[in-house]
Amino acid sequence: RPILLWFRRDLRLADHPMLHEAARAGRPLIPVAILDPVAEGWGAAAMWRWGEGLRVFAGTLAAKGSRLILRRGGAAEVLARLAAETGAEAVWWSRAYDPEARARDVAVKAALRAAGLAARSFPGHLLFEPEAVATGQGTGFKVFSAYWRAASRLDPGRPLPAPGTLPAPSAWPASDRLDDWRPGAALRSGAAVVRGHSAPGEAAALNRLAEFLGTTLARYAERRDFPAEAATSGLSEYLAQGEISPRTIWAETARAGGNGKFLSELGWREFAHHLLHHSPDMARENWNRDWDRFPWRGESPDAEAWRRGMTGEPFVDAALREMYVTGRMHNRARMVAASYLTKHLLTDWRIGLAWFADCLTDWDPASNAMGWQWVAGSGPDAAPYFRVFNPETQAEKFDPLQLYRRRWIAEGQAHPPAEALSYFAAAPRAWGLDPYAPYPRRRIEPAAGRQRALDALAQWK
Ligand code: FAD
Repeated sequence: RPILLWFRRDLRLADHPMLHEAARAGRPLIPVAILDPVAEGWGAAAMWRWGEGLRVFAGTLAAKGSRLILRRGGAAEVLARLAAETGAEAVWWSRAYDPEARARDVAVKAALRAAGLAARSFPGHLLFEPEAVATGQGTGFKVFSAYWRAASRLDPGRPLPAPGTLPAPSAWPASDRLDDWRPGAALRSGAAVVRGHSAPGEAAALNRLAEFLGTTLARYAERRDFPAEAATSGLSEYLAQGEISPRTIWAETARAGGNGKFLSELGWREFAHHLLHHSPDMARENWNRDWDRFPWRGESPDAEAWRRGMTGEPFVDAALREMYVTGRMHNRARMVAASYLTKHLLTDWRIGLAWFADCLTDWDPASNAMGWQWVAGSGPDAAPYFRVFNPETQAEKFDPLQLYRRRWIAEGQAHPPAEALSYFAAAPRAWGLDPYAPYPRRRIEPAAGRQRALDALAQWK
């Protein structure tokens, strides 16, 4: 009798523990993806990117003589119905770690078992399961360096090969059409814009990795902070969709001679999942509840100017425009843009977190929450609360030739580059933006904003 393989954000064949075991079970396999309320809660860019990933993955499965069945609805009901239709007696999936997915998965497991089906979940999204790394007292870590020291002593194991064949059932159940799901419908800048900056799928991920290891790894540690350069791996969107496993990246990096700095960045991704596992509230609440008393500003014209990349602070605006058009933002730019919103504009980090969640094709609930709380100062092992990035000196240091700012800020340039203009083409008409209008005045001078933040923080402290 068949096994239903419920794919979520694990759209690959290689190093896929669930798929590896399924292919060896000697039973027909029915791959399925479900547009359920949890998936419908994802941000627009993540939903679009998932749709792109599903399209490629369906082709990958078809080349193996299999199919990807698409269904919409509550996961437990959809799976139980599919099991009844196909005679399947088991449902398998890869674990997810954010609180919404976890709560759903617990409920689905209980419902399926109550209906007499075998439900089973597998690792695969992380190098180390969150509970596998623990302090001497058996608790979670709060400090990255200690976490990573402990994690680095563990062996992530070797990547599993992709399965050779995927046995098909005697008859396939009906499937939705992906286009009817309209995964790109909510994407603000439009699928046609973002598509040019994304190459979905496992094969693209492996190519990206090989190219990075072959050409860029050697200068990664030195150049990774310069947003105008392509000096980072660009693997985050693939990791977010599970189109590549962190273990494959780990093993291939070792084969390429290793690189402690790069692997420790993968470690930050692990740490984010570890934190979210132990503090599931941190995607919504201050990890350090002292911050509940901080008088964050809510929605305001400042917050809207920030979202639109119209704060008058070029490094910050470049970052937000880059994200709007490409679905990506360089890590240094994320830190500076987030600091500017939370410190200079004194705005609640959750407003920024929500905008990133809507616009990032690499959106990841764990890394996004950790990143925002790190910058705001409310998270564990966070930047000290009095640390306020100066957007001007950050720009001088990390964009000394103004390449990044000029790439994304059209105003003031006689012949703006295509990227800068593409932002204006993508922005809604209602925003009334014009690339040849004067660049907006600063909402606050860097020094005055810093002082205002320090005063507010001193009062709160
Ligand atoms: P590389 O430098 O090549 O790093 C390799 C991999 O390590 C990345 O793909 C990523 O998986 C991981 N990584 C690197 N830096 C971090 C980090 N600081 N935290 C966690 N993992 C890291 N990353 C996301 O994947 N999704 C998010 O939603 C996200 N939101 C963020 C929000 C804020 C405010 C900040 C400051 C950071 C956020 N990050 C997020 C982390 C980081 O900016 C991106 O992972 C990185 O820019 C991706 O580019 P890359 O793949 O070229 O990274």
